[in-house]
Amino acid sequence: MFDFHIHSSVSFDSDTPASDIAQAAKQAGLCEICFTDHWDYLPNPNDAHNLFSLNEYSQAYDKLSIDGLTIRRGVEIGLNEWNASECKKLLSKRDFDFVIGSVHYADGYDPYDKKYWDNKSVEKAYMRYLEKVLECVKLHTDFDVLGHLTYVCKSPNNPFHAPLSYRECGDIADEIMSIIISNGKGMEINTSGVDRGVDLLPSLDYVRRFKELGGEIITVGSDSHDATRVGQYCHTTIDALNDIFGYVCTFEKRRPIFHKI
Ligand SMILES: [Zn+2]
Ligand SMILES: [Zn+2]
Repeated sequence: MFDFHIHSSVSFDSDTPASDIAQAAKQAGLCEICFTDHWDYLPNPNDAHNLFSLNEYSQAYDKLSIDGLTIRRGVEIGLNEWNASECKKLLSKRDFDFVIGSVHYADGYDPYDKKYWDNKSVEKAYMRYLEKVLECVKLHTDFDVLGHLTYVCKSPNNPFHAPLSYRECGDIADEIMSIIISNGKGMEINTSGVDRGVDLLPSLDYVRRFKELGGEIITVGSDSHDATRVGQYCHTTIDALNDIFGYVCTFEKRRPIFHKI
């Protein structure tokens, strides 16, 4: 079983050491995981961004090994409209196994921030986020999978507290998915929305459409930031993929590996 979206204390928003998380992964019955720490930029280029030190990254992961568990070393880069060259610089400095491209800000705020939702209808709040994702996938080509396409609905400040279904945003979702497919990229299914009542991010209706549009690369990740959630819902999600793709992907050295389910 696989979990390809995990944060450790290398990320600014986790304080759990990588070794504790790897142990928890083994105990949870996983056979292959990937650490994907945040390399994230705030909306304003002059802000202090949420990056990690490559030295600290190497210290945490280079010698980390556990019998029976394959550990990959990845990164979750935060995409925005001005940082494509910044991201490229990072990727030239270290060879990662896997790169998730995620959008965490729209309209100047993280949807986690209550201010993002001020003076917006739920429809507008959802749409502004997807418009930013569309803008970013047009500008960025150096990532392997698009992270949590429907991240916006997971916010605790979302007054709607409901999933963003494909039928609510099919046109723009199609446009985003078509671009990543034509650029040879995959899509992630992020399980962190399940316990928040907003389903998988994105839910399986998007995944079916992704396949219809010609998408081939699909990964699953918990987005855990501590040892308790590693692998959470990955098993059931991968089982659900059996009827859609019949496989799930992991990555090594930026190349997808297709695992039959
Ligand atoms: Zn993310
Ligand atoms: Zn994440």
